[in-house]
Amino acid sequence: MKFNTKTIHGGQEHDPAYGSVMPPIYQTSTYAQSTPGGHKGYEYSRTHNPTRNALENAFASIENGKHGLAFGSGLAAIDAVIKLLEPGDEVVSTNDLYGGTYRLFTSIFKKFGIKFHFIGMENASNIECYINEKTKLIWVETPTNPMMNIIDIKATAAIAKKHQLLLAVDNTFATPYLQRPLDLGADIVMHSATKYIGGHSDLVMGALIVKDKDLADRLYFIQNASGAVCGPQDSFLALRGIKTLHIRMQRHCENGRAVAEFLNNHPKIEAVYWPGFESHPNHDIAKAQMNDFGGMVSFTTKGNNYEEAIKIVENLKIFTLAESLGGVESLAGHPASMTHASIPREEREKTGVVDSLIRLSVGIEDEEDLIADLKQAIG
Ligand SMILES: *Cc1c(COP(=O)(O)O)cnc(C)c1O
Repeated sequence: MKFNTKTIHGGQEHDPAYGSVMPPIYQTSTYAQSTPGGHKGYEYSRTHNPTRNALENAFASIENGKHGLAFGSGLAAIDAVIKLLEPGDEVVSTNDLYGGTYRLFTSIFKKFGIKFHFIGMENASNIECYINEKTKLIWVETPTNPMMNIIDIKATAAIAKKHQLLLAVDNTFATPYLQRPLDLGADIVMHSATKYIGGHSDLVMGALIVKDKDLADRLYFIQNASGAVCGPQDSFLALRGIKTLHIRMQRHCENGRAVAEFLNNHPKIEAVYWPGFESHPNHDIAKAQMNDFGGMVSFTTKGNNYEEAIKIVENLKIFTLAESLGGVESLAGHPASMTHASIPREEREKTGVVDSLIRLSVGIEDEEDLIADLKQAIG
């Protein structure tokens, strides 16, 4: 089965009871037993739920994995991965990281004795400088948020293999439509399904996908033991989202390209961060590991004026000023005052999050309307 067919049919069976084409929403916490232990494979919904299982099979299918796990949020999925580790273990992680991931690593897991190295991975050989006998995991996010840096997954997987480390890739921005990390040698793929997978800004959910049975069993144990699962209603919505992932992503990419090119030619714009430009420092890697370049575009204005950036995001009419990304509707964010406001200016500026940086999640509206909106807002 090819990708587009997988989004619709991957891992799915028609409901055995009545043949319903969509899996029913099994809104139940528990399942009747005929005798103690005599059940039909389901005992309690933290452990298993048929609607969630249908979704987990779809996750596994679209990422070319064997086992999928669905969680109550992206961060709950990341939390489960780090719980594979022991006190004293070390993690080498991307530095330009989703803020919530950074907070989870530094504010929660650091105090349980896990050490994190946050480093620039645009040059993969840099990673080996931080590996020692305590290192257990490499955590990669690519493209990164909000600077759209690209990390070479295949080269990183080779390093992980050489040192017998796990490689986990946060594939939220790219989705399996654009890149499939398991095919490139990663061990774990993670998603905030809240974003492109759900695709309609109507749920919060996380996912993990792996190939290895042993690793899957350890993660299923953590999922059940820690309990951060998603409910059947949200599982249904995510399944419905996946069925249109390929056509949504195609349009996100087309509109993202149009917006990036418009901004690049605008006299008031200083820099545009989008991996599709040949001038992007890792364009060649993006081209090799991604099928297209996605709908996320960040930019700065000439003069780097904080108030001007605020005015632009306030002026936007079709783009909604909001956190999050990946929905059908276009969103705009101002990282310096929103997602990265808690990071001291000096720190955030080191990774490029300057005062005038604006991040766009380009939706699937008409391209002309999006460009007209940006034109009037930038002035
Ligand atoms: C949103 C996001 C997360 C966290 O996911 P939640 O569903 O909000 O918990 C992790 N990584 C990336 C890249 C994200 O955009």
